[in-house]
Amino acid sequence: MEGSEGDVTVSLVNHRVDLPEEPDADLQNEESFQHGDKTSYNNVPEPDLGFESLDYDPIFNLVFENSRKDLQSRQLYGYTGLTLAKWSITILIGILVGLVAYLIEMCQEFLLTRKKELTQRIMVNGLMLSFIGFASFSVLLVLVACCLVLFWAPSAGGGGVTLVMAYLNGTDIPEFFQFKTLVTKIIGSICTISSGLMLGQEGPMVHIGAAIASLMTWIHGALPTRKKTQPSHLRRCCKPWQAKALPFDLYSDKDRREFISAGTAAGLAAAFGAPIGGVLYSLEEASSFWSRKVMWRSLICCTFATMVLALVNSWEFSTSLPGSMSFREVQPVFIVRDLPLFLVTSALTSILGVVINSAHAWLAHMRPSSSYKVLRIIEACFVTLISVTVMFVLPLCFGQCMEVPAQKTPSGSTMDRHYWFRYTCPAPNTTAGVHYYNDLATLFFSLPRQNMQELYGMHGDAETEFSIRSLGIHSLSALVLFILAYGIATPGGVFMPAMLVGASFGGFLGRIFQRLLPSAHVQPGLHALVGTAAMLGGFLRASISLVVITVEGFGGVDFILPLIVAIVVSNWVAYHFHDAGAYEADLERIDLMSSNVVCFHEVVTVAEVLKVLQTRRHNGFPVLRHTHSDTSNGGGKFVGLILRHQLLLLLEERAFVEIDPQVLLHTQKYAWENNFSTNMQFLDHAMRIYHHFHYPHHRYLSSRPEALADLGVDEIVGAVNSSNSKPGNVSDDINTTADAPKKVLALDLRPFMNRAPITVRRECSAQRVYIIFRTLGLRHLCVTDSHNKVIGIITRKDIAMAQKQGRLSKDKRFQHW
Ligand code: ATP
Ligand code: MG
Repeated sequence: MEGSEGDVTVSLVNHRVDLPEEPDADLQNEESFQHGDKTSYNNVPEPDLGFESLDYDPIFNLVFENSRKDLQSRQLYGYTGLTLAKWSITILIGILVGLVAYLIEMCQEFLLTRKKELTQRIMVNGLMLSFIGFASFSVLLVLVACCLVLFWAPSAGGGGVTLVMAYLNGTDIPEFFQFKTLVTKIIGSICTISSGLMLGQEGPMVHIGAAIASLMTWIHGALPTRKKTQPSHLRRCCKPWQAKALPFDLYSDKDRREFISAGTAAGLAAAFGAPIGGVLYSLEEASSFWSRKVMWRSLICCTFATMVLALVNSWEFSTSLPGSMSFREVQPVFIVRDLPLFLVTSALTSILGVVINSAHAWLAHMRPSSSYKVLRIIEACFVTLISVTVMFVLPLCFGQCMEVPAQKTPSGSTMDRHYWFRYTCPAPNTTAGVHYYNDLATLFFSLPRQNMQELYGMHGDAETEFSIRSLGIHSLSALVLFILAYGIATPGGVFMPAMLVGASFGGFLGRIFQRLLPSAHVQPGLHALVGTAAMLGGFLRASISLVVITVEGFGGVDFILPLIVAIVVSNWVAYHFHDAGAYEADLERIDLMSSNVVCFHEVVTVAEVLKVLQTRRHNGFPVLRHTHSDTSNGGGKFVGLILRHQLLLLLEERAFVEIDPQVLLHTQKYAWENNFSTNMQFLDHAMRIYHHFHYPHHRYLSSRPEALADLGVDEIVGAVNSSNSKPGNVSDDINTTADAPKKVLALDLRPFMNRAPITVRRECSAQRVYIIFRTLGLRHLCVTDSHNKVIGIITRKDIAMAQKQGRLSKDKRFQHW
C-alpha cells in the first residue's frame, strides 16, 4: 500500500476538477495536485451578494427514501390529513388576503376622500393654507411609511412583485416573508397611496398575498405535535429529515412555493376584483413553476379572496363591487371600425411605457443607495412635496371649471358626490342645481379607480367631463410624477399609476381624434381603456392575464377585441424599443459554467470538510466516486450532490466514523461497493438525527465561514487532531505514522447526498440550461462529460451574470443577485 499513500493525500485535499481547456491535466501532473492544496483554493473572496437560493429540487437520498417507507406505514387507512390541511390553508389564505385588501382599500378611500374634503373646506381661508395642510399631511404619511421600511423591515420597500417572482424562481430573500415585513407593507402601502404619491396598492397586494401564504404555512407548522423551536423559513435546511417526523410536510421550499404562488394570485385577484385574472397573472408572470395542482390551489385561493372582499364590501356600501378596479357601470359601445384608431392609441401609449422603463433605469443610478437612510427619507419627502405642488399648481393654472354632468349630481352614489372636486371654481348654484368642478384638480385629487371609471365613461360628441388640455397635462405630469415616485423607499406598486397614466393619455388621444375626425364618432372612453391596456403591455409586458383582468373588471367580453389589439401592439412596440436583438446570442453555445469545481469523495475526512467549508462559500458540492477503471486523481464519477447545510448538520451532529486511513483510501479509491453495506450504520445515525431535530438552524443557512464557529468546530478539530499526532496536517500524519495506524474522523456522505441531481452535458446550449434552471427552480446544475465526470457547475448566479452581460434573454426572476 506504500505507493498509494500519495493518493491518501489527494483524498484529503480539495479536489480540483480539470479545467475544460485541459481535460487531462490531472493525469499528467499528479505532483501539482498532491501539493497543491494550499494553492488550489481560489482565494479570491466571493462577493457577498446577500441572497442565497432555495432548494426546490427534491433531495433523493437514502434517508428520504427510508423515511418515506416509514411514513407510509403510519398512515391511517392511507390517509394522512395532508390534503385536508393544505386545502384549509389555501382557503384561509384567500380569506385573509381578501380582508387585508379590504382594509387597504377602505383606508385609502377614507383618507383620500377626507383629505379632498378638508382641502376644499380649508380653501375658504386661503389656498396657501390648504396647500400647507395637505402637503404636511402627505409628507407625514410618507415619513411614517419610509421610516418603517428603512428602520424596521427594509424588504418591504417598493412594490415587491419582482422579489416575489425571484422567490418563486428560487432566490431566498432574507426577511421577505416575515411578519414584520407584512405589517410594514400593509401600513406602508396605506400611507403611501393615501399621501397622493403616484403609487398603487396592487404590487404590494401581490407581496402581501405571498407573505400571508408563507406565514400560513408557518403557523400550520407550529401547530401540530412538533416542537415550536425553529421558524419555518429556517426549517428548510432539514428537509430530507423532516419528511419522516411530520406527516404534514409543508415546510419544504417546494410546498411553500405552491402556497406562495396561490397567495400571489389571490393578492392580485383581490386588488383588481378579478379571480381568474389573478390566477393567470401568477401563471404568466410570477410563478416559474406551474402545475394543475397549483392552478387549482390558486383558483380556490383567488375565489375566496374576491368573495370575502365582495362580502365585506356589500356590508359597507351596497353599490360597491369587489376589488379596486370594477368599472361595471361603464357601458360604451365598441364598433369594429374604431380598430385602426386603437392601433394608433396603443402604439403611442406603449411608447410612454417604454419611456417609463428607460427613465426608471436611468434614475436608478442617481437615487441614493439604501444605506444612506437619511438621504432616502429626504428623497421620498422631496418627491412627495413635488407631487403635492404639481397637484395644486397645475389645476390652478390650467384647470377648467366645468359643470358636473347633470345625471351625476343630484343624489348620485356616494362616490359621485365625493368625486367632483370644486377646487377654486365658483360655489354651486343651488337654485339651478348646478355644481362646478375643476377638471384637472379632480383628476389629481381623486382615487385612481374613480378617475379611470370616469375616463372610461367619456363619450358624447361634446367635450364634457375633461378638456383636452387637462387630459394632456394630466397624463404627462402624472407620468413624470410616477417616474419620480417609482423607486423611492416606501412600499407602493406600479400597476395602478401606470394604468391611470395610460387611461388619461388614451382619453387625451381619443379626444384629439374626436376633434380631428368629427365624422368618425370616436368614443374617447374606449381609447382610455385601450390606453390602459397598452400602457401595461408596453411597460410591464404582460399579456393574457392583463386582458382577463381588465375584462373581469368590466364584467363583460364586449371589449376583448380592442384590448387584445392594445396588448399585442404595445408588446410589439416595446419589444422593438427594448430588446430587439437581445436573444440572438442565445443560439450560440455559451460557457456559463464555473470550472474548478470543489468536490468531495463519498467518504471524506472531517478535516477536509472543515477546510472546504471554511474557505469556500459554495452551497453545493458534487460527490465523486472512483472505480477500478478510474486512474485519474482529480475526477471520479459523479454520483451525487451534497449541500452545505447537510454538511453542517452532520458536523454538528458529529455523525462521524473513525476510519483507518488505509481503509479510507480504499473506500475512496476502489472498493466502494464492498464497503457499502457496512456503512448503512450511518443511515441509522441519520434517522436518529432526524428525530431530534430542534436547533436554531439559521446558521446553516449562511454560507459564511463564521457560521461554522457556532458548531464547535474547534472541538471537532481538536478531536481530529487528537487522533492524529500532528495538528492541522492530516496528510503528513498519515505518512509519518504508517507503522502505528491512527484512525481519522470521516464523514460518509452516501446516505445523505442527493443521488439524483439534475446534470447537463457540456454541449447543452445556454438557453436550454436557462430553461432547465427556470422551470425546475434549480440551485446547482452540474455539468458532466461523456464519462460522467464533473467538468463544471452552474448556479443561479452564473445565469444572472450571463443575463446581466446580455448573453442570455433577460428575466426579472434572475434580477435579484
Ligand atoms: P446559492 O448562493 O445560490 O445558494 P451557491 O453558493 O452554491 O448557491 P453561488 O453562490 O451561486 O452558489 O456560486 C458562486 C459561484 O461559484 C458561481 O459562479 C458558481 O458557478 C460557483 N460554484 C458554485 N459551487 C461551486 C463548487 N462546488 N465548486 C466551484 N465553484 C462553484
Ligand atoms: Mg452563494
